[in-house]
Amino acid sequence: MRVLITGGAGFIGSHLCDRLLVDGHTVIAMDNLSTGSIDNIAHLAGRDDFAFIKHDVTNYIYVPGPLDAVLHLASLPSPVDYLEKPIQTLKVGALGTHKTLGLAKEKGCRFLLASTSEVYGDPQVHPQPESYWGHVNPVGPRGVYDESKRFAEAMAMAYHRYHRVETRIARIFNTYGPRMRLDDGRVVPNFVRQALLGQPLTIYGDGLQTRSFCYVSDLVSGVIRLLLSDEAEPVNLGNPEEYTIREFAEIVNALTGNQAGATFIDRSSLSERVEDDPKVRRPDIGKARARLEWEPTVGLREGLMRTIDHFRTRVPAR
Ligand code: UDP
Repeated sequence: MRVLITGGAGFIGSHLCDRLLVDGHTVIAMDNLSTGSIDNIAHLAGRDDFAFIKHDVTNYIYVPGPLDAVLHLASLPSPVDYLEKPIQTLKVGALGTHKTLGLAKEKGCRFLLASTSEVYGDPQVHPQPESYWGHVNPVGPRGVYDESKRFAEAMAMAYHRYHRVETRIARIFNTYGPRMRLDDGRVVPNFVRQALLGQPLTIYGDGLQTRSFCYVSDLVSGVIRLLLSDEAEPVNLGNPEEYTIREFAEIVNALTGNQAGATFIDRSSLSERVEDDPKVRRPDIGKARARLEWEPTVGLREGLMRTIDHFRTRVPAR
C-alpha cells in the first residue's frame, strides 16, 4: 500500500510509520510539527519508501500520485495542548478531518480516523462499549477536543454513507510509550519525568480517578487490523487493565526506585486543567476481540519499563 499518515511525526503517528514500513508499505508522513517532532521520524529520512510533507491539514491537501489509505492522526490530544490551543484543536478535528476525507474520496482510497475515548466524556457507563453515546460537556474546556472528535466521527460516517468512502474509526484510549513528549503534560510523561528526577509525583485531586494504559506497539497493531478490516462503525482500541492514578504513581515509583513519593495537588489550584476530568475510563474491547481478533499483549509494568528506559536518555541525569 501507499499510505498517507497525518500527524506522522507525532507519538503514535511515527510508530505507525515504522510499522507500515516494516510491513513493506510506502509511507508519506504529513505533519505541521506543532506538537509532533521531526526527531521522531529522522531515522526514516533518505529511504525510497518514505517521504515527509510539512503541512497543516486544516488547509487544502495536495498529495501527488495514488494512495491506498489515509490515516488521520493529526491532533492535539494532550489536555495541556488543547487547553493552550483550543481553536487549533477544533480546526484539526473538524476542518482537518474534512480535508483528509476529501483527499480519500478523491483518491478512491480507505480512510481511518484516530478518534478517542474522550467521545465518551466523563462516562456514566463503565467500562465503555462503543454503543455508549457518552456524557460530554460541549462548553467546558475539554469540549474543544471532545466535540471536534465527535464531529470528526459524524463526518467520517457521512462520507461513508453518502460518498461510499471506506472509513474506519478507532476510538483510542490512553496510550503510552517511547517518543511521548516529555512536556506534553499527560500523566505518563509527567510521572516518569518526575520519578527520574527524584521528585514527588503530582497527583491531581484525590488520585482515585482511573485510567487504562495501552502500550503503543499494541495500539499500532490494533489500528492496522482495523484499517484492513471491513468495520465501518467505531471500534475501541485500548488496554482494559484499569488503575487509579494513585496506584499508577506507586507503580512508577517502584519501577524507577523513586523515594520521593507523591504529592496531592488540590483541584482548585489546577483551574481548567482538571475541569470535567473523567473519573473513570476503561475500554470494553469485546468488539475489537471479536471483529479484529485483537487484544493488547504488553502488560503495564513491561511497557512502563520500556518507556522509562527511553525517557532515561532524555531526562537530564540527577
Ligand atoms: N494526572 C495527574 N497528575 C499529572 C498529570 C495527570 O494526576 O501530573 C491525572 C489527570 O488529572 C487525569 C489522569 O491523570 O485524571 C490522566 O491524565 P492525562 O493528562 O494523562 O490524560 P487524560 O486521560 O485525562 O486525557
